Amino acid sequence: MARKKYDCLKCPAYCCSYAHIPTTKTDIKRLAKHFGVSEEKARKKFTKKGDKENPRVLRHTADEHFVSSCMFLDKQTRNCTIYEARPKICRDFPTQTRCGYYDFLMFEREVQDDPEWIATTD
Ligand code: SF4
Ligand code: SF4
Repeated sequence: MARKKYDCLKCPAYCCSYAHIPTTKTDIKRLAKHFGVSEEKARKKFTKKGDKENPRVLRHTADEHFVSSCMFLDKQTRNCTIYEARPKICRDFPTQTRCGYYDFLMFEREVQDDPEWIATTD
């Protein structure tokens, strides 16, 4: 497998701020097991209505950098609080050896001469 050209540990978890983070039935089942609740409860508590393509997406909470982000993102550490139980899409992303946001972030940090800079896209 080709080496990854991004480091999520240096990133403020931009991908966790995507409005539509899809969940499958298997993802909801995993979340239910992780929290010891019924699948119906997990579905209602952790997901909300998405669109035609992704009917159930992860719920968000307020985020000082990206307006809102996944409810499971620790807003201080920028780490996933349910790493072992995270949905498949989170395991697979970004599906390539590069991450577009990471490239942008590294460019901005160099330009700003600030290794902690959090680049936003709006
Ligand atoms: S935006 Fe890219 S570098 Fe940042 S956490 Fe997501 S996959 Fe990792
Ligand atoms: S479940 Fe974890 S990895 Fe997935 S979007 Fe939420 S915080 Fe990010």
